[in-house]
Amino acid sequence: MAKSRKEKHRCGICKSLLNGISSKGSKTQKKVSRPFSGLCVKCYERIFKLAKRYYANELREEEIELKYLPYIKSLKRVSEVF
Ligand SMILES: [Zn+2]
Repeated sequence: MAKSRKEKHRCGICKSLLNGISSKGSKTQKKVSRPFSGLCVKCYERIFKLAKRYYANELREEEIELKYLPYIKSLKRVSEVF
């Protein structure tokens, strides 16, 4: 078997390995309420902090790092989390 399994998930931003995502079924299925399951907690929290400020008009778009911007923009659709 030469195929390498791609079971390890990496953060979409900082590329660090994501822990805690078990692809195997857990007994108590937790529903992930996080909008970005492909991000690590660090980046996720960072995005949320930035997004809060952004949507509170404390932060301008050009002040946000480009790597975060698409995620922050997509948060608009899930703005009920704020
Ligand atoms: Zn990350």
